[in-house]
Amino acid sequence: MDNLASMLYKGSGIHSIRATTRDLAEKGLGIMLDAVIIGAGYGGMGAAALLAHAGLMVVVIDQSLLVGGRASSMSDEEGYRWEYGAHSHRLADKGIAGELFRRLGDEINFLPRADDAKLIFKNRLWERPEGPLGYLRTPMLSLMGRLTLIRLLIKIKRSRPEDWYDRTLIEFYRASFTSREVEEVLPLLGISVMCPDPAKVSAGEVIDFIKRMLAAGVSVGEPVGGSVQLFNKLQFHIESRGRISLEEKALELIMENGRVAGVRTDRDVYRTDRVIFAARLPLLFEIIDQAAFSKDFLTYCESIENSSCLSFDFITNYPVSDIKGSILGVDIPLWARFQTNSDPSFTPQGKYLSTWGIMLPWGFDGDPEVVKATEKRLKDTISHLFPNLLPNLTRERKLVMQVMNGNVLTPRQSKPHRPEIVCDSVPGLYFVGDTVRGDGCSGDISFSSAMKAADSILHEKGLRT
Ligand SMILES: Cc1cc2nc3c(=O)[nH]c(=O)nc-3n(C[C@H](O)[C@H](O)[C@H](O)COP(=O)(O)OP(=O)(O)OC[C@H]3O[C@@H](n4cnc5c(N)ncnc54)[C@H](O)[C@@H]3O)c2cc1C
Repeated sequence: MDNLASMLYKGSGIHSIRATTRDLAEKGLGIMLDAVIIGAGYGGMGAAALLAHAGLMVVVIDQSLLVGGRASSMSDEEGYRWEYGAHSHRLADKGIAGELFRRLGDEINFLPRADDAKLIFKNRLWERPEGPLGYLRTPMLSLMGRLTLIRLLIKIKRSRPEDWYDRTLIEFYRASFTSREVEEVLPLLGISVMCPDPAKVSAGEVIDFIKRMLAAGVSVGEPVGGSVQLFNKLQFHIESRGRISLEEKALELIMENGRVAGVRTDRDVYRTDRVIFAARLPLLFEIIDQAAFSKDFLTYCESIENSSCLSFDFITNYPVSDIKGSILGVDIPLWARFQTNSDPSFTPQGKYLSTWGIMLPWGFDGDPEVVKATEKRLKDTISHLFPNLLPNLTRERKLVMQVMNGNVLTPRQSKPHRPEIVCDSVPGLYFVGDTVRGDGCSGDISFSSAMKAADSILHEKGLRT
């Protein structure tokens, strides 16, 4: 599935926005590199950019045709930009991705905040409440329900995530409240960390995010132009001191005298005493024997649970809706955006893109019948709420993909249970990505672990105290 973006690229006739990487063979090969980074997603690119920015010589390797991993993006000859599912950044410039860019002396340009975000609840479209006052006023719930919701937010604000990582949101809720009505809106808190099921999501993870959101006063930000903006900037920083090599697969971690000594790929051998593995952890065992790791580490990797989704890009010849903000499902696990309304750079003039994602049921194993039923559920909802969208499509792209390859924030996969960034059994090996112990959720875990790995390496090299 990690390679799905490149398979998609190969099959679609779509042209990469960045298929060319600078040929810096003389820069990387044959000499001792400061670090080799395996994986060019948010995590690997983020870590490499920070190291290159600090003056270290790095090489990033990715087996795909594109940088970006699960957040990759491509443009075609007609002027459409296709994201690998719409991506936004929690807490906008006050969030974790924003912090990484600040460390680079750079920034993410976010779209102006839209004040018309919506919720889908009981088959109706509602204004999305902003902040506690918004929750107090929302007509989605009765007065009693709204008061309970406010009390729940107060309880969240006063709770410590550490006390609740191992318990679910529903346990947290039922410890103090009984309103069935409010229970029905709990998926909204869960989907804020991409695990809408209150009986599955770690209460500690929800508490951590909601507290940070209340403090920041902003929930998400969408980058102008989509994820490509971030990857272009990261690439610029990396190429100041190193290179990115695409369509190159790491095959083996080279060990000498009990520590990392390099990486063998399907093309070359790189000498380095520091390797950052920036892909989901179970893939690690393709390049190094499991015997190098502790039992706990292996058990964690085996127990990693994925989540999958169905994503649609719909193109129409007219705008269908004037909504600029994002749309989230409360009792149906979906998210959507009328992309062109807020960022016309996604489509050629006169064309309008909307992107819709819906979670597939937990434990989805590729069954086409399940995909069909989920597609029907999504399309029935769309037909009810936006009757002019589906009959007027000029183009449709459908993807089945893994959203979370290990950061479904269940108690077992919550922060304290994910492995440390500095590998304790293989000196010179670091882990980055959304399956390791970063902060936040989804892509934020990747960016956060990237900062921690870079800090560690810079500290070891005496470049940071
Ligand atoms: C539809 C969808 C919507 C999402 N929305 C959001 C969102 O709004 N906000 C958010 O924060 N997150 C979102 N996410 C999650 C986010 O995309 C991921 O958390 C993030 O992209 C993970 O980045 P990563 O660098 O950790 O890993 P990846 O993106 O998986 O990158 C790992 C890379 O390693 C490469 N690789 C693996 N093995 C090897 C090898 N042996 N040799 C060379 N290369 C190798 C792979 O090709 C891949 O490119 C979404 C995900 C999806 C699918």
